[in-house]
Amino acid sequence: MKTTNTYFNSEHELLEFAKKENICDDEKLLIQIFTSKNNFEFIKKLLSIFTKHFPKSTLIGSTTDGEICNGKVSTKKTVISFTTFEKTNLEIYISNKFKDYFEGGKNLAKSLIKDDTKVIISFIDGLRGNGEDFLNGINSVNNNIIISGGLAGDNSEFKKTYVFTKDTILFDGVVGVALNSNNLKIFTDYSFDWQAIGKKLTITHAIGNRVFTIEDKTAVEAYNYYLGEAVSEKLPKVGIEFPLIIQNNDLNIARAVIGKEDDGSLIFAGNLKISDKVRFGCADFDSIFNETQKHVDKLLGTCVESIFIYSCMARRRFIPEAIESETSVYNKIAPSSGFYTYGEFFSCGRSKLLLNQSMTVLALSESSICKQNRVEFQALKHSKLTLQALSHLINVSTKELDILQNKLEFQNQTDPLTKLYNRRYFSEVSNNLFKISHRDFKPLSIVMIDIDNFKNINDTYGHSIGDRVIIKLAKTLFRLKRESDITCRYGGEEFIMLLPNTSIRGASVYSEKIRKKVEDTTVEIEEEITITFTISLGVTQIDFINDKNIETVINRADEALYKAKKEGRNQVVSL
Ligand code: GH3
Ligand code: MG
Ligand code: MG
Repeated sequence: MKTTNTYFNSEHELLEFAKKENICDDEKLLIQIFTSKNNFEFIKKLLSIFTKHFPKSTLIGSTTDGEICNGKVSTKKTVISFTTFEKTNLEIYISNKFKDYFEGGKNLAKSLIKDDTKVIISFIDGLRGNGEDFLNGINSVNNNIIISGGLAGDNSEFKKTYVFTKDTILFDGVVGVALNSNNLKIFTDYSFDWQAIGKKLTITHAIGNRVFTIEDKTAVEAYNYYLGEAVSEKLPKVGIEFPLIIQNNDLNIARAVIGKEDDGSLIFAGNLKISDKVRFGCADFDSIFNETQKHVDKLLGTCVESIFIYSCMARRRFIPEAIESETSVYNKIAPSSGFYTYGEFFSCGRSKLLLNQSMTVLALSESSICKQNRVEFQALKHSKLTLQALSHLINVSTKELDILQNKLEFQNQTDPLTKLYNRRYFSEVSNNLFKISHRDFKPLSIVMIDIDNFKNINDTYGHSIGDRVIIKLAKTLFRLKRESDITCRYGGEEFIMLLPNTSIRGASVYSEKIRKKVEDTTVEIEEEITITFTISLGVTQIDFINDKNIETVINRADEALYKAKKEGRNQVVSL
């Protein structure tokens, strides 16, 4: 296979280029167009040239927020990338006939994926397109397929983006080309290099990719409060440079702002959920300059004939003068072209991710001969010392803040004597679980526990032995619980448990097991002198029709406990 890239200036120049480079119209010729000109008439005219001179070829294209041609970064230009395959068949798909982007992805996958499909390069509308739903749609058909590409751009005008094939130009649509072959070798990678800064914040109201409130402030107010008026006033334009970063296990996923509504809510290039923990993000110069060599080195020893780069527009906008250093290094390995997107597609194991702020790389080869030497990354280090130092300072400060925030959060939620959750945390979590249980029609049981005649223990052995009994009970409850169960110290010698997905019958059996275990437990008060104690338990389950809030359920558990006491203690009563 062979890729040659050029800028489009005129029909004449293009044909001269094709002649010089020996590019022939063929079923195995893939043409990718990356154009900054989000103008329907321009694209239509451009495509007519290809219909005329390259009728057999397969063509996909996207509008951009900057282009990459042979590693060089440009704006306001049109890049034509020709790839002639030898052993790969091309299949194309374009559509805007779907009810949502999940269906758009599903239909594309159904139409394109064959047994020998190695990768799909796809572009979708950058403003209306929900990249996350689109990828989930593809995954619902086939979760092994590798997908590359991203969301179309429009020079940060946020008005209209297009994706197209030779004969169809769509806004609010999806386009994709499948590369089908048994000989094609694929390598994909992504660089992130954005750092999460400042305090961890909670999304308090969001639907899909629209965030209404962060920490109960409107999304715009939150940007204003934490990043200042200079940033919030320029939303949504500047928002892509200050995304929200969701910390998802070990993976940081950024969500860039792509729209602002009059009510102060913001539209993001991917979904966010209520109670997601996020931080503001900004470019990490330290990492961009230090990690690029590692990324390039990953290609050593693999066969690479063509490289396509789909990179976030925020990278280009943040460090316009230095950004070319990270794309041009790839061109030393193989001809590299691509564009700056409003969101990048990346496949990672079985999941597909919509990324923001990242640079994704798709390297292809049909040959099995590797003739690559190590290439050196040259960053513009000298002029960036201040920014690197600031980046470093922010990084370290954020880590310190994070430790403090986690500690504080732990203290706020935990009972100091038993280390179980406290009553405050219980109120928060029980309300949420009540809502989820109602929504999903899944049972939720509550068990209220109280130590029998605890006053006697205190009076006979002293308060500190009383404390030891409380700790012993807490440990026993903790040891016997399932992972999803939540055990809290509710008050003095009273405990409460939330058992998700558990019916009253299951909860009663479980409570009886606890009662028995506690009865058999001993607490050492002096060497070789031990005491025993018992507990009473009240059990109940959510009634989906009559229980309007969690308090009613708690009161019923309390009633059951009261009954257990009245009927002689050391027993389980369910109501
Ligand atoms: P019943 O079987 O009806 O529950 O009898 P009880 O004696 O356990 O009932 P009551 O609720 O009247 O007594 C609870 C006692 O627990 C009263 C209080 O002094 C004691 N207590 C509350 N918190 C603590 C604590 O943290 N440590 C100790 N040692 N005692 C506590
Ligand atoms: Mg009590
Ligand atoms: Mg008691």
